[in-house]
Amino acid sequence: VLALEDVRHAFGDVAVLDGVSLDVKAGSVTCLLGPNGSGKSTLLSIAAGLRTPDDGAVTRRTAGAARSVGYLPQRPAFRPQFTVAETIAFYGSLVPMEIDETATLGQVGLDGVADRQVENLSGGMVRLLGLAQATVGSPPIVVLDEPASGLDPQLRHHIADVIADLAANGAAVLMATHDLGAAERIADEVRVLDDGAFVAGGSPAAIEAETGTDLLEGAIDALI
Ligand code: ATP
Ligand code: MG
Repeated sequence: VLALEDVRHAFGDVAVLDGVSLDVKAGSVTCLLGPNGSGKSTLLSIAAGLRTPDDGAVTRRTAGAARSVGYLPQRPAFRPQFTVAETIAFYGSLVPMEIDETATLGQVGLDGVADRQVENLSGGMVRLLGLAQATVGSPPIVVLDEPASGLDPQLRHHIADVIADLAANGAAVLMATHDLGAAERIADEVRVLDDGAFVAGGSPAAIEAETGTDLLEGAIDALI
């Protein structure tokens, strides 16, 4: 559903992605790991179609979908005066289909605060709103940039469950995370990005079997 082939990107003369290839299938979760500054967010913005790479191919097979890609930026910005329901309605208005706001919020567990203004939400609730926003219109591709960073373990666990459900319902999910536990639990594929290139990858079990390698150890060490 989502494929990147030999994607390269530079900011000025700094190469940030140096030939990255990736294939995310429908109904699967791919977790992108890697130290700060390794290029995860840049890769995700290219995968989501918000940035055009200098070189390489990006393919999204989403024919017939009302919304092809749902994207959660690393630092989402919402209108503080909007209520939760109005925020989702706003995103829904960008999609040519009827949106059930209550169901969208119910999916992430926010249905109890639909009438509350965004500025009066807890940080965790704002994160759930970000996740809900990315799922409006049931896009076949969902790209999430650190959806659960800085949250308590219970909420991280809840968010991982919501993401696993998205894939169970057929979405191709690509997410950046520093949460190795979540990656281990919900990822079908893990890719470790270091300095703009994948240095390790595979299923979580295969990655674990490999943790003796210097490259992976270095990448993982930088995460925790
Ligand atoms: P983090 O884990 O901290 O979120 P990341 O892996 O998401 O990091 P990116 O945000 O993709 O990393 O950044 C990769 C590199 O590209 C960094 O050196 C960053 O400073 C640089 N960079 C990112 N966006 C831009 C931009 N718009 N202009 C110039 N440089 C940028
Ligand atoms: Mg980032």
